[in-house]
Amino acid sequence: MLLYDTLNRPKLARPEPAGALQPDGIQPKLRNVPLPLNVDVFWFVLVARIEEDSRRGGVAHSALPLPPRFVSFDTPMSEAPEQAVVDLETLASLCKRRGFMFPSSEIYGGFESTWDYGPLGAELKRNVKNAWWKAMVQERDDMVGLDASILMSPKVWEASGHTAHFTDALVECKSCHLRYRLDEMEALTCPNCGGEFTAPRQFNTMFKTFVGPVEDEASITYLRPETAQGIFVNFENVLNTTRRKLPFGIAQQGKSFRNEITTGHFFFRTREFEQMEMEYFVKPGTDEQWYDYWRNERLNWFLRFGARKENLRLREYAPDELAHYSAGTTDIEYRYPMGWAELEGIARRTDYDLRQHAKASGRRLEFFDEETGEHIVPYVVEPAVGVDRCVLIFLLDAYHEEEVRGERRIVLKLHPYLAPIKVAVLPLSRNEKLVPPARKVWDLLRPQFMTQYDDAQSIGRRYRRQDEIGTPLCVTIDFETLEDDAVTIRERDSMEQIRVSIANLIPALRERLPEVC
Ligand SMILES: [Zn+2]
Repeated sequence: MLLYDTLNRPKLARPEPAGALQPDGIQPKLRNVPLPLNVDVFWFVLVARIEEDSRRGGVAHSALPLPPRFVSFDTPMSEAPEQAVVDLETLASLCKRRGFMFPSSEIYGGFESTWDYGPLGAELKRNVKNAWWKAMVQERDDMVGLDASILMSPKVWEASGHTAHFTDALVECKSCHLRYRLDEMEALTCPNCGGEFTAPRQFNTMFKTFVGPVEDEASITYLRPETAQGIFVNFENVLNTTRRKLPFGIAQQGKSFRNEITTGHFFFRTREFEQMEMEYFVKPGTDEQWYDYWRNERLNWFLRFGARKENLRLREYAPDELAHYSAGTTDIEYRYPMGWAELEGIARRTDYDLRQHAKASGRRLEFFDEETGEHIVPYVVEPAVGVDRCVLIFLLDAYHEEEVRGERRIVLKLHPYLAPIKVAVLPLSRNEKLVPPARKVWDLLRPQFMTQYDDAQSIGRRYRRQDEIGTPLCVTIDFETLEDDAVTIRERDSMEQIRVSIANLIPALRERLPEVC
C-alpha cells in the first residue's frame, strides 16, 4: 500500500492495518477535520471547534484562544533574550490585519482550507520562490529550470502509480462522522466525541476533472498532485536541448492539488498549494552521497534566509517506513506552534519514475555516457518543499515581540531578501514643505527597491507599522533635509538611525540589504 505525504511523495509510513481495506463506502461529503499530529486531545478538540467555527463564521480564525505552545524554545546563549514565541492565532491575526493572508472567498463566508495572499503576502511568497530559484538554479552550474503544465495526460498518472495508489487510508467516527487519516491517528476512539471508528477505507486524493465539453470516462484527467512528474516526462526533452551531463538537476515551481482530508493549522496544510521540487539525476551508485549533499544544502538554505536553527531538525525514515522503490527519505522538520512536523522532504527515488515512464511510453529515458559508451538510467535524489509552508515558517521565525521604552513592539525580523517591502519612505509630517522632497526620494528609490510611501499618523506609529510588516529600512525626510539634502536611514532590528546624503542614498541602502541586489 502506497501512502503519500503532504508533499505528495510516497511514504510507507505504517504497516497495513488489520482487516481488509474497502475501496468504496466513503461518503462524498468531506469534513474538514484537524490534523492531529502528535498532540494531545485538548489541542485536537479545540482546533476542531475553531475550524467548525470558521466554517460557520467564514473567518478562518476565530476569537477562541489557542492553547499556549507546548514545546518551549531553547534560547541559545548567543541570542537576544526575546523569543520568537507566537501561536498561529496571533500570526493569523497579524496576517489578516496587515494584508499578508486572507481567507479565500471571504465575502461568501470563506471556502474550506483555501487562502489568498494579500498585497504583502504576494510579495513575500514571490521572494521565497525567488530565494529558492536563486539558490537552486541561478547560483549553480548543474541545474536548469522547467515550468510544466498542471493538466497532463492521464497516462502520466497511470504510469507513476498515482491513479491506483494515490490514496489515504481513512477512518470515520460512527457517531459524529468526522474523518481522520489512519496514519495520523493515535487514539482508538474519536477525539471529538469518543465514538467508535469504522474500518479503514482507501480514498484517492487526486482532484478529478474533465477536459473538453463531454463529461465522460475518456475525458477524465486530474489536477496534478505533484510537480515532479512534469519533470520526469520532460527528461528527454531537457537532455536533448541542454546537453547536460550527469549529475544534473531540473527544478520546478508550481501549483499542485490534493484533496486532503485533514487540513488546517492556518495554511499549514491546504488542498491547493505550491511546490518547489527538484529532481537531481545521478549515476547509479552515487545517489547516497548526493542524498547527504542535498540534505545539507536544503537545511542550509533555510538558515541562509533566516530560519532559526533550533526550530529545524532532520528526521530520517526507518527502513520499514520507506516506499518499495525508495532507498531513503529524510524530512526536514520544523517546530510549529502545534509541534514538530514536516517542512521539506528529501528522497532517493532511485530510477523508479524514469523506468515506469519508459515502460509506459515506449521511449528510452536514458542518459548516453559518451566516455564509457553506456546507456544509463539515472538515479534520482529529490528535495521537495511547499512554498506556502516556507512562507509560514519564515513568518513564525521572524515574529518577535519586544519591549521598547515601556511599549510593546511587534517586529517581523524577516531576512531582507524575503521582506515584502525593502524601504519605506516617510516624510516627518504632511507639512507642505516636506512632501516634494519626500516624493522625489520615493521616485529615486522605486526603480531600485520594493518601496512604500507613508505619511499618515505620527512618525513613531509609522515606524511600528513598518516593523510589523518586516520592512528592514525606513528613510525619513525632515526639515533638515531642506537644508542639507540628507535623510535619515532607520534600521528595523537595531532601530539605529544614520544620516546619509541623498546623493549617497542608494549605495547606503544597498549596503544594508544583504542579498537584495
Ligand atoms: Zn466522533
